[in-house]
Amino acid sequence: MIKKRMVLRFTKKTWNQPIVYRLVKEYNLAFNILKASIFPKEASLMVLEISGAETDFDRGMAYLKGCGVVYEPLEANIKKDENRCVHCGACAAVCPTEAISIQRPEMYVVFDPEKCSGCELCVKACPPRAIIATLSSQGA
Ligand code: SF4
Ligand code: SF4
Repeated sequence: MIKKRMVLRFTKKTWNQPIVYRLVKEYNLAFNILKASIFPKEASLMVLEISGAETDFDRGMAYLKGCGVVYEPLEANIKKDENRCVHCGACAAVCPTEAISIQRPEMYVVFDPEKCSGCELCVKACPPRAIIATLSSQGA
C-alpha cells in the first residue's frame, strides 16, 4: 500500500471528464482532495493524496497520462530547526527510513536529508515543532 500526494493538471478539454472517479472505480485507488483550482475555460489543477496498491497506483498514473492529464508528485522538503530541537529522540523513533538517527555517545539527534522520503511522520511527533515541512512540485 502506498500513499502519495500528486498534482494533477487538467486542460479545458479534460477538466470535466470523470477521470478522478475512474481512478477510484477502475484502479481501486482512494483519494483526498487537498486543493482544487477549477477554471472551466483555462487549465485547472487538483492536488490529491492518492492511496492504494503500488501496481494499481502505477496503472492509474498510466491511465492519467493516456487521458492527457499531466501529473507530478508533490514533495515534502523537510528541515530540522537546530535552535528548537531539544534532542528528545521522538522523531527518530517514528522515522521509517532512518533519515533521523541518534548519534552516540553524545545522544544528538541528526537528520540526513538524503535518506528522507518526505512522509512527515516526524513533523507530528516533534513536541517543540522543530521539524518543518514545505511542499513543492517541479511545475508549481
Ligand atoms: S519526513 Fe519521514 S522519512 Fe523524512 S525524516 Fe521525517 S519521518 Fe523520516
Ligand atoms: S522530536 Fe523534535 S525536538 Fe525531539 S529530537 Fe526530533 S526534532 Fe528534536
